[in-house]
Amino acid sequence: MPPLVVIGAGLAGWTAVREFRKLDTTTPVVLITADSGDFYAKPSLSNALAQKKAPGQLVTTPAAKMAETLGVTLVPFTRVESLDIASRTVRTAGGVHPWSHLVLATGAQPIRVQFQGDAADTVLSVNSLDDFTEFHARLAAGSRVLIMGAGLIGCEFANDLAGAGHKVSVVDPGPRPLAALLPEQAGDSLRLSLESIGVTWHFGTAAQAVDRQGDALRVQLSDGQVQLTDVVLSAVGLRADMRLAQSAGIACDRGILVDTALQTSAPDVYALGDCAQYASAGSRTLPYVMPIMAAARALAATLAGKRTDVQFALMPVSVKTPAYPIVVASPVPGTQGTWHNADEGLWHFVDESLGRRGFVLAGRQTSRRAEMARELTA
Ligand code: FAD
Repeated sequence: MPPLVVIGAGLAGWTAVREFRKLDTTTPVVLITADSGDFYAKPSLSNALAQKKAPGQLVTTPAAKMAETLGVTLVPFTRVESLDIASRTVRTAGGVHPWSHLVLATGAQPIRVQFQGDAADTVLSVNSLDDFTEFHARLAAGSRVLIMGAGLIGCEFANDLAGAGHKVSVVDPGPRPLAALLPEQAGDSLRLSLESIGVTWHFGTAAQAVDRQGDALRVQLSDGQVQLTDVVLSAVGLRADMRLAQSAGIACDRGILVDTALQTSAPDVYALGDCAQYASAGSRTLPYVMPIMAAARALAATLAGKRTDVQFALMPVSVKTPAYPIVVASPVPGTQGTWHNADEGLWHFVDESLGRRGFVLAGRQTSRRAEMARELTA
């Protein structure tokens, strides 16, 4: 019997294997990954400076230890080049691996903006420990960092960098931070709180070109302003990595399409994590930790022989901005309604029939996360 093959050693790949091993200790498992396979919590990348942790200290379990504990044959530093559904094999530069069942946990790729300028290739994105290691190496005491994007990841890095003594500016075409996620008042409070720790904002504009100017980088903005900085960090968003699935003819949209039991359009091929677009979530991608945990548990049961549908509970997201901590439970996209400010630091999203469909908690109110989640699902 060929092994279960898992592609990707992020939170999705490793958690799927860990859950599977709780149910099946004998089926051979091969995990192939382009990186080292070391286990780390990716959310810690955007608050590592506050924790005074160097990149290497973020590894919680080395790859070899993970493989030994879970009884997995690990194939690290190896990119899967193609899948063949008919022959049930994956191809890497090192050879061909047969599979009985295949799990795609290939994550997401940062969206790359095409800049003009002779230093455009110095722009970094942080979506892995390797990316963070490179970013960290570029920082010196008091470095100037220009962040492109005032979304979740951009704001978290802004807080972490400013807290560590770096001079942070954030550029975003929108009107305020987290404009797509938060009511206006909450976004304004976040803006002021980050300003109070030294972050400067440039809203309604975007970076166009990055050039060298002596030892610095010169960033040209679309409104004509010029910013001098030492490092440019792009945090404009992620896109599900569907390349392998697409080239094998597996159905994809904004992610790899999976049914309620996480199966793709190909038999015995499954997907979860940032690469997946879930039928159980109204055909949405869910690029967060908690959905991965729920998906991994359901997938493990299916792989162990009991087809199991994944059910996603309400999963509020914490924004790691200690200057103004926030918890958001967003309404399902497309829900018509408005945000209502119920109390200081508390907003409810109310739909057209006056039903509550989401909430935002800020500051002290974040301690009410469990209570609010219960109320929303009651
Ligand atoms: P990844 O971690 O991207 O793993 C993908 C794996 O696939 C990698 O090992 C890669 O090497 C491998 N791979 C890809 N292609 C191939 C190939 N062809 N061959 C072999 N291997 C391949 N979520 C929260 O819920 N809360 C937070 O506070 C939070 N903070 C975050 C902060 C940051 C800075 C970032 C970037 C994300 C954050 N997230 C947070 C999101 C969360 O971390 C992700 O949803 C989760 O880590 C994704 O895991 P994954 O395994 O799906 O993908």
